[in-house]
Amino acid sequence: MHGFRAVETAAYCPRKLYYRRQSPDEIVIPDEVEQRRELAFRYEQLLADEELVAEAPLEVTPTQFRSRLGCVKARMPEWEQLIDPADRDTYLRGRECHGIAHKLLDTAEPSLSLVFAGEPPETGVWKPQSVKLIAAAKALSWELNQEVPFVFAEYPAYGVIRRVPVDARRTADYREAVRTADSIDGPPARITNRSKCNHCEFAGQCGVKTRSVRSLLGD
Ligand code: SF4
Repeated sequence: MHGFRAVETAAYCPRKLYYRRQSPDEIVIPDEVEQRRELAFRYEQLLADEELVAEAPLEVTPTQFRSRLGCVKARMPEWEQLIDPADRDTYLRGRECHGIAHKLLDTAEPSLSLVFAGEPPETGVWKPQSVKLIAAAKALSWELNQEVPFVFAEYPAYGVIRRVPVDARRTADYREAVRTADSIDGPPARITNRSKCNHCEFAGQCGVKTRSVRSLLGD
């Protein structure tokens, strides 16, 4: 049984998952991340209150934030469920994975949302986040014995909410990440996409030169 975060990490870099498992340190969620996630539970207040939105920990201007969320509100049929979820921070335990769903939605078909503190891609969601979303969708489906056809990814600091289908491609990526997480019994090879290493807390241990170190050395 893997945590949602473990399969997300397996999809990001198997070696990183290995280091995380070896680390005696508990994962501590930074206050900044908590504050950004909390924005996802205050959309209506933020849309209504200019002072509140001006003080919020956003990564876009208040105007961009309100314009983006205004579009979501106008176009996404599940808006009401997203701003008033049936439950929040709910523990789910599936066949292969377990973890916390940030929102459970009372939609016609069961659904959920995960809230991400970082920046969204231009379209869709980042692959490791897609794997995490599908892990949560499969766990909810297992608990309810019902299909979960789509889920939501929220990037509240950017005013972005995306509907994510639980389709064959995403499910295949999820299954591959589960197999990877199952199979790690020693340090896997380093990934070739070194831009990911710049954001990895194990870069020093891994022996990878991050961009900042390289630039310090004039490389
Ligand atoms: S530094 Fe790069 S290769 Fe090493 S664990 Fe982190 S992401 Fe993986």
